[in-house]
Amino acid sequence: MLDRYRGTELQNYLEQLIDGEIEVARKPQYVDQIPKQFDGKVRQLLEQTDERGDLDYLVDELSIRPVMDQAIDSISGGELQRVALAATLARDVDFYFLDEITPYLDISQRMTAAQLIQELSEDGDRSMLVVEHDLAILDLLADTLHITYGEPGAYGVVTDPKSVRNGINEYLSGYLDNENMRIRPEAITFEEHAPRAATKGQPLVEYPDLQKSYGEGEFSLDVEAGTIYESEVLGVVGPNGIGKSTLAKLFTGALEPDEGELDTQLDIAYKPQYIEIDQPMRVDAFLSSITDQFGSSYWNTEIAQPLQLERIMEQNLDDLSGGERQRVAIAACLSEDADLYLLDEPSAHLDVEQRVQATSAIRRYTENHDATAMVIDHDIYMIDLLSDRLMVFDGEPADHGTARPAQEMRAGMNDFLADLDITFRRDERTGRPRINKPGSQKDREQKRDGEYYYAN
Ligand code: ADP
Ligand code: MG
Repeated sequence: MLDRYRGTELQNYLEQLIDGEIEVARKPQYVDQIPKQFDGKVRQLLEQTDERGDLDYLVDELSIRPVMDQAIDSISGGELQRVALAATLARDVDFYFLDEITPYLDISQRMTAAQLIQELSEDGDRSMLVVEHDLAILDLLADTLHITYGEPGAYGVVTDPKSVRNGINEYLSGYLDNENMRIRPEAITFEEHAPRAATKGQPLVEYPDLQKSYGEGEFSLDVEAGTIYESEVLGVVGPNGIGKSTLAKLFTGALEPDEGELDTQLDIAYKPQYIEIDQPMRVDAFLSSITDQFGSSYWNTEIAQPLQLERIMEQNLDDLSGGERQRVAIAACLSEDADLYLLDEPSAHLDVEQRVQATSAIRRYTENHDATAMVIDHDIYMIDLLSDRLMVFDGEPADHGTARPAQEMRAGMNDFLADLDITFRRDERTGRPRINKPGSQKDREQKRDGEYYYAN
């Protein structure tokens, strides 16, 4: 290794590592495994890691104070992720390896994680390596970028460092300049301006005000009356615990509203947030039981290929990884014949390339079939690339939420991002949205003008 990296920055690092001069802290990718390795309360896990005396600050910033006295095996995925981040960032080491920071987190929690990582990297002689699939967050967070490409399951290549801006642009364009390497046949492009007030189709469903509570004094959701039009893709955004999945269940009929009534004539294809398809059945058998298009050249190009299903067709559903199960579930949903396709967090557990492919599969499917879709997600690039209009949730997570009627993208993004206090600018060359540094000139100007997303 030393020979291979002689003359590069890595040589220095590897030599120090050999000499035991470098201490490393690592946040594992699969936070759901932590309860298998640690038996105890959140507080006990965190106290062992408080090497810099910063633990209280991290606990408050990451809002995990309320779960400090809960058992590790009783907290949610989003809470585990934030506990794992706190545990890693509380350490006093030279090098931090953070293997995916955004799974299970909503946008504001992602921003907080990014900000804490940046603060720590500026404090003294510390370096961090972050693996991440949310490109907007990665863009905000990183100083330099390595792209890995290759053939999943076969080989991978890590590129030399690139500037973050160029690296992400090259990645989206599908072509790596320095490496002279095409990694995808087509480029991913963003529309710079809000889609023009799209000519709407016929209303697919007009729903009245709805109300749903879970028991006395627990969470309650108010849905403001609205309309979903034929052939549109509705993006749905809002913090965790605000009632997005509850709304999805109201639409599918899995839950009954306490007040208001929903027309349940609609045929809905539903991909739930938490996927339960763990039967001892092969993927190909499962998918061919859903559609008689299975295996047709149309189905292969539109669904199997972009969702990378070929390699897992012969596996059993109960042996699939999180990302594999997600892709099968998206395929199953899109393979149904339905009036409305309802996808709850399709980006979860997918890598960047799979997100990009899943996004274009959903987009292409809805366009080719004049289908209507509702997509709940936290990945702002995915929402931007997919949506014709936006439905925004607000309220107090875990207490009450309100689902606002869907709006045009510009108005929707402005409402949503004003609440989060985040503005986006456009990359000059590609039009790609980039999060403004909080307090930067652009950030202040755009807030003054009330243009959080589609500023020129
Ligand atoms: P989101 O999808 O926006 O993250 P959810 O609709 O899943 O939010 O949940 C909203 C709130 O309702 C959360 O506080 C959650 O804990 C609570 N909740 C969800 N399902 C139930 C249930 N079956 N019983 C009681 N509370 C629930
Ligand atoms: Mg949800």
